[in-house]
Parts: sequence; structure tokens; C-alpha cells
Amino acid sequence: MPSEERPDPPARVLVIAAHPDDADFGSAGTIATWTDAGESVSYCIVTSGEAGGSDRSVSRAEMITIRQAEQTAAAKQVGVHDLRFLGYPDGRVEPTLALRRDLARVIRQVRPERVVCPSPERNYARLGVGHPDHRAVGSAALDAIYPDARNPFAFPELLAKESLEPWVVREIWIAGGPTPNHYVDVTVTFSRKIAALRCHVSQISDPDGLEQRLRSSLSSMAGAAGLPEGRLAEPFQVLQIG
Ligand SMILES: [Zn+2]
Repeated sequence: MPSEERPDPPARVLVIAAHPDDADFGSAGTIATWTDAGESVSYCIVTSGEAGGSDRSVSRAEMITIRQAEQTAAAKQVGVHDLRFLGYPDGRVEPTLALRRDLARVIRQVRPERVVCPSPERNYARLGVGHPDHRAVGSAALDAIYPDARNPFAFPELLAKESLEPWVVREIWIAGGPTPNHYVDVTVTFSRKIAALRCHVSQISDPDGLEQRLRSSLSSMAGAAGLPEGRLAEPFQVLQIG
């Protein structure tokens, strides 16, 4: 299919994240609203999160298996069944040409109208969301969207050896950045976001406390968005690109 031909809705969405659980913390409520609307969502997780968790008795090789399984179960909670793990080393991700090529490959394979990715910027108000892997993946993802995925002469081997035609992404949704400009009301899907997060058993020791903290932070996001009392919202910086 040439890149100009686009489907009527439902849209295709690609969520790019650094670690298993990132998509659930940042975007799962929003993702559930999209899959409920019939949109097709794929996950591309750059690492398998083997540097996560504090149990030293679990080998890191085992942790890869555990976290991939947790993310797969979490994705199901919000209607996502297509997951791709790139296997980069957790804690040591850099925005290299190799990562840009690997993300451009996935973008050309999935052909999404919309990509969700982490922010390449530090967020001084929430330092944890600016983990170095998140920033590296955010930077590489934005470069993979523009120019790599759309330019046939960027990583020409993708076209020559894998027959992956260029693809133009129209919308970028940046999660966790310091300057959100768009808020999605996730009040109805919040319980599924929590169900997804509860799948990350190796990472979350106090799921009830987490639910409370998230309810409070998403409630203040809803306030920032001007939504009525009692609503919950996830924040994004949305960019429309031509
Ligand atoms: Zn992370």
C-alpha cells in the first residue's frame, strides 16, 4: 500500500516506550479509550526492564522473561495484543543511529497514524519520568518519526532489503514531558489502567497505595485541564506534523 493511502477510522497507533510498565503509568487509560473506539494499538518496548525490581535473588535473564510476560498481560487489560520488544539493555539506552533505525523499522511495519512516545526532555517537576532511558527513547523516537521513517534515503537498507516503504506519521503524543498541551479524560478507563499496572507484580509492592497516588495525580491533571471535580485525566504534548 503506498503511503498516501490511509484507512478511514479506526486508526492505527504505535506506543513506543523504554521499559515494561511505562505505557501503563503514562498512557494506559488513554490507550483503553482508543481500543474501545476500535483503534488498533501496538506496543514497541525498547528494553525488557531487567534492571527493575529490588529482588537480587532473581537473575536478570529471568527478569526479562518475567517483565515481558507482565507487560503482555497488562497490555491485554487495555485491549492491546501486538507487542514488540527490541531487547536493548535496560539502564543503558542511548539515542543511537541503530535505535533510530530499529524504531523506523517498526514505524514502517505498523504504519501508524499516531505515535505515543516518552519525552526527550527532563521534567524537573517529576524527575522520575525523565529517566535517562525515557529521554533517550524519546529522542530516538522523534528522530525515527521525522525524518527516518518517511525518508526513503534514510536507512536505505529498510527499503532495499526489507521492502519497508516510507511512512508519514501525522500525530505525535509525548507522554511525561514538562509542557503538556492536551488532556484525555480517563475517568471511565481508570480501573483498567490500574488493572494493567497490577500486572507488573515484580515492580509494584503496594498496588493499593499506587492506585491512591495515581488517582490524586490524575485528578490534579483533570483540574489543570478544566474538567469537573471527580474526573481523572492523563496529560500529553500533542504535535500535529505534516
Ligand atoms: Zn521506565
